[in-house]
Amino acid sequence: MPAAPKLTSEAIVVGGGLIGLAIAAALAERKVSVTLISERRPGEASPAAAGMLAPSVERASGPAHDFGIAARDRYPSFVDFLAERTGVRVPVNRLGILQVALSEKGIRGLKKTALPTSRWLNAKELKELEPALSHGLGAVFSPDDGAVDNTILLAALEKLCAASDRIRRVSDAVIAVDPARNSCTVRAQSGAQHTARRVVISAGAWAGKITGARFARAVEPARGQLVAYSASPLRHVAYGPRGYVVPRGVVTIGGSTMENVGFDSNTTASGVKKVRTAAEEICPGLASAQRTDAWAGLRPITPDMLPMLGPDPEHPSLIYACGHSRNGVLMAPLTGDLIADLVTESPLSHDLSQFRPDRF
Ligand SMILES: Cc1cc2nc3c(=O)[nH]c(=O)nc-3n(C[C@H](O)[C@H](O)[C@H](O)COP(=O)(O)OP(=O)(O)OC[C@H]3O[C@@H](n4cnc5c(N)ncnc54)[C@H](O)[C@@H]3O)c2cc1C
Repeated sequence: MPAAPKLTSEAIVVGGGLIGLAIAAALAERKVSVTLISERRPGEASPAAAGMLAPSVERASGPAHDFGIAARDRYPSFVDFLAERTGVRVPVNRLGILQVALSEKGIRGLKKTALPTSRWLNAKELKELEPALSHGLGAVFSPDDGAVDNTILLAALEKLCAASDRIRRVSDAVIAVDPARNSCTVRAQSGAQHTARRVVISAGAWAGKITGARFARAVEPARGQLVAYSASPLRHVAYGPRGYVVPRGVVTIGGSTMENVGFDSNTTASGVKKVRTAAEEICPGLASAQRTDAWAGLRPITPDMLPMLGPDPEHPSLIYACGHSRNGVLMAPLTGDLIADLVTESPLSHDLSQFRPDRF
């Protein structure tokens, strides 16, 4: 009988964006030793995102919707935990999200698709709640949705993982995974090999490039361009017919494009113009603000825009946690919990069947 391979750690996490960091942190919390292998590259989604916690707007159906709501409601305890462990208080806005109607047709469309948990505000109520949107004809108001500052969240998770003596960080690019019966081996660009009982693929838009991670081939990059205005006329996240605006401290973020341009994460003049038009249509006050910045990131999208969460059915030593599409910030803390459940073979708190990696 061949000798069992020597384990580098109990688990290996591939990818150090919000998803990989949340998973590594959750595993370390359960006393699992982790090797976190990641390489920085342009276009990473987690620092680029707008940070909305918007399960009532960026909607799924069935258990996936319930998962989105649970992910949003996981945030308060998660940021408390991060503050306690790192001293970093991640700003979370849960004032609710407004979907603003700017035409009679818009009113009809929004009323038709509103969730029972949302409320219709007429023009007067909208103006009272958010004076910067006083030109709106009304809005669907989804209480409890909102936004998190994903750049501070990322920094807090980095700090937590760096301080953990159960997490070993390796800066390298993983090129292949080779799952065996009771373990999985990872091959990196440097030539190094690492083996663990479980390997988690959380490599964002690049997950499909890893040889052996066969289901991740369904994950593709979708570029999103964002702009930041140095003005803060709003308190609430607001969607309009062509985009959204997100207040973040002293700036307001406007987004976003959704483009299939491969791994190109540059901004374009036409993309930035489109995003500005959409943002200024929602909040005309932004038009007179000085634009400070524009950037782009690559969303890891799947054909149904739902994440891939779960083991390869034939090779359970290989677990997928990728393809979070437009909701990866929202889902990061709950994804960490669920993947830690899977790795430690604990009962799952959520039905993951809609997220099976072999569904495409
Ligand atoms: C413009 C934009 C706006 C968005 N807005 C929102 C929003 O408002 N709300 C929301 O919930 N979500 C939003 N998202 C989506 C969200 O950002 C993503 O779903 C989420 O960040 C994905 O996280 P990730 O860790 O999987 O990927 P990433 O953050 O891309 O991280 C992947 C990491 O893996 C590393 N990596 C990749 N391949 C390898 C390899 N082979 N070896 C080692 N390391 C590797 C990468 O370098 C990177 O560090 C937005 C995304 C974009 C682009």
